[in-house]
Amino acid sequence: MNIALIAHDGKKADLVSFVLQRMDFFKRKELTLIATGTTGKMIMDAGVSHIQRVASGPLGGDAEIGAMVTRGEMDAIIFFRDPLDKHPHDVDISMLLRLCDVHNVPLATNQKSAHILVSFFNEKIEPLKTADL
Ligand code: PGA
Repeated sequence: MNIALIAHDGKKADLVSFVLQRMDFFKRKELTLIATGTTGKMIMDAGVSHIQRVASGPLGGDAEIGAMVTRGEMDAIIFFRDPLDKHPHDVDISMLLRLCDVHNVPLATNQKSAHILVSFFNEKIEPLKTADL
């Protein structure tokens, strides 16, 4: 299962903290975590090593993840957007959100929806084995 993690600068600390809070899910071996460049580096710096990084968002990382969505390679996206800031790559962000809708890929853009998404997939993959706890 491929999950993308993306956060705008004003939300990166929130995303790192979210990932650490939900490590029960993010450490599962069924998952491949993909992140945009700077977000991925911050998550790795927090001690989560199994992250595949694409380019930084403003350099095309959101577009790379959009291409994965188009190819049917992405199962869910957690994208902590900062609605109070401007972004040079707004067109890429809109494209990614649009592609999620085109291809029916679940997308969480804030903490509460991300918790709901993670809880859903945590149950769906397969119940946790006692050995995994
Ligand atoms: P970043 O990209 O993780 O490289 O900062 C995220 C974005 O701004 O879309």
